[in-house]
This record gives sequence, structure tokens and C-alpha cells, in this order.
Amino acid sequence: MSDIKQNIQSIKDSLPSTVTLVAVSKTRPVEDILEAIKSGQVIFGENRAQEMAEKKSKINLPIEWHMIGHLQTNKIKYIAPFVTLIQSVDSFKLLREIHKEAEKNNRVISCLLQVYIATEESKFGFSNEELIEMLTADEFKNFKSIKILGLMGMATFSDNEELTRKEFKSLTNTFKGIKANFFNDNSDFCEISMGMSGDYKIAIEEGSTMVRVGNSIFGERVYTKK
Ligand SMILES: *Cc1c(COP(=O)(O)O)cnc(C)c1O
Repeated sequence: MSDIKQNIQSIKDSLPSTVTLVAVSKTRPVEDILEAIKSGQVIFGENRAQEMAEKKSKINLPIEWHMIGHLQTNKIKYIAPFVTLIQSVDSFKLLREIHKEAEKNNRVISCLLQVYIATEESKFGFSNEELIEMLTADEFKNFKSIKILGLMGMATFSDNEELTRKEFKSLTNTFKGIKANFFNDNSDFCEISMGMSGDYKIAIEEGSTMVRVGNSIFGERVYTKK
């Protein structure tokens, strides 16, 4: 059995049935994705629009593509015709542009709202205040070509388990508050995307419904942990 296949199987075996696995294939070659598909994986996450579109054009199979990285408004057009879920909606302005592209493509595009939960400046996302401001705006209510499925967050890049746990807890709390106030009778709003290779077990303990795993499936990208 290949490493990729083995990794996917052991991760899937360890996930509760309620948690969706997104295989993060950014920077990986098409062959790796095909290997994962053979192992039964159907959802792939990419963080660059053009890279996703290029891979999509080479892989003519019914898989799902999730955008998980910061998306510039002028790049939406590359993925709008096919993307399954944009997890990294981090501003009202971006959502407005995604809505326009969705209409142009005659589609409803599903999105997660990325919430800023880390202590690092480098991460993107809405603050709780910004979220509420957008969700109460009349313009937002008229986004007929957008479906909001929940929230996404990234914890601080750290070995401090308590900090990671605290940040995931805060995302779950934000989710509950937003759900109760804005999506109470909307069953589409049900996802909390949190957890990566290094912290997905903690994320699941804190309520994650969707984990985004790259290194633990495809092998280490080279970086050092702070
Ligand atoms: C790269 C990335 C991941 C996956 O990280 P790994 O450490 O490789 O599991 C998850 N989420 C986002 C937003 C990413 O950019």
C-alpha cells in the first residue's frame, strides 16, 4: 500500500463519522492527488486559485475542490465555475465579489466565513464585530447566490496545546452565537472547519466538523515549528 493510501486510511479510521476530511493538496503534484482519489478521498483543499484551476483541468473526475487560502477578488473567476466550497471568506468585500461571480456562472457558491482566532498578525479572518456587522447588513441578506455553511478558523502556529484548545473553543463559541442569532432555522449552517495535521485531534475534541489535513497525508512540507 502506498504511503498516501495508508495515511488516509489511518486518519479516516481515527475520525468520528461526523467529521469531514479535507485533503490539503496545495503544492502537491497531480499524481499525489490521483493516488489519494484511488484511496477513496473525494475532497481536496487548495490555497491558490490558479493552482486549483490548473489541477482541476488535469483531473477530470467528480471530486470536490475547497478553497482554503486567502483569495484575492481578481482571482475568484478562476474557480467560480466549479469550486465546491470557499472556506476562506475573510471580508465583506470578498463575499460581495464571490456573489457577483456566482451570478455570472449561474451557480450558488457555498462559503465558510473565516474567523480570526489566532494571536498571530499573519492570519486572516473576520473579528466577531465584523461578522455581526456583515450578517446584519441588508446587502448580505440579498446574496441569493451564496450559501453560508458555517465558520472556519486557524489556530496560532504553536506547540502550546492549551493555547490551541482555547482558540478552537472560541471558534465553537462564536459558531454557537452566530447560529443562534442569524441561522437558527437554517440547517445549512452547520460546519466548523478547524484542525490541521498538528492539531486536528484537539480541534475535534473542541467541536470541529471538518479537518484540513495536508502533511499527515502527503508527507512533510519543509518548515520549522515555533
Ligand atoms: C496548509 C493548510 C492546511 C494543512 O496544513 P497541514 O499542516 O499540512 O496539515 C490547513 N488549512 C489551511 C488554511 C492551510 O493553509
